Amino acid sequence: MIDLHCHVDLYPKPTDVVSKIVNHDIFVLSVTTTPSAWPGTSALAKSSPMIQTALGLHPQLAAERIRELPLFDRYLPETKWVGEIGLDGSPENRSFWPTQQKVFEHILNSCARVGGRIMSIHSRRASAQVIDTINRIPGAGTPILHWFSGTKKELDQAIGCGCWFSVGVPMLASKKGCDLVLRMPRDRVLTETDGPFAEMNGKPAFPWDVSAAVGLLGKVWNVEQDAVESLLGTNLENLRSSIVSF
Ligand code: MN
Repeated sequence: MIDLHCHVDLYPKPTDVVSKIVNHDIFVLSVTTTPSAWPGTSALAKSSPMIQTALGLHPQLAAERIRELPLFDRYLPETKWVGEIGLDGSPENRSFWPTQQKVFEHILNSCARVGGRIMSIHSRRASAQVIDTINRIPGAGTPILHWFSGTKKELDQAIGCGCWFSVGVPMLASKKGCDLVLRMPRDRVLTETDGPFAEMNGKPAFPWDVSAAVGLLGKVWNVEQDAVESLLGTNLENLRSSIVSF
């Protein structure tokens, strides 16, 4: 199984979560929300190659943490994975929209400078602006839009600019989400939980809960669970080899 977007460092007991991830043999992309979280969060996974850590600066923290951009640039050579980054157009985050843009553009430029990275990108209420920024800064790497919630037209534009997608239970449980998933190229889809922020049955989702997303994806695509797992495995291999500079 694959959980391509999980905040491992934000569970109450991250080391317990790491042990269980290893026991369940799940590939997890452990995303961070601040550059200063990088040393501690990457250390959690240092003896577990199935857990890869992404260096991030969450758009909701852009104003508070813009001073950490030099730290972002310092740690960037240490990882092939970047996230969580992006833009958030929700009303509560609009007051610092110019700062969000500045941070996101800085990060894409930094990724381009080091030859490209695999990037897990947040785009809530900002799909058009995220796609526009990706188009304006070529060479930043392979973008993955996590929990995409834009329109069909924006989805088509995202597909056109080379985006991948990580989808979870909240998307797959809604008609709108399923329609979007059906429109995504199957060879650019992966699964995620977004735990502990996203919930499963009223509790924070854990990486092993990603099995529910695999089941729902099988229903949406109308293919057997084994076939879904095999396709997702191939997709992950292709995603990892999309960046050769690291
Ligand atoms: Mn997240």
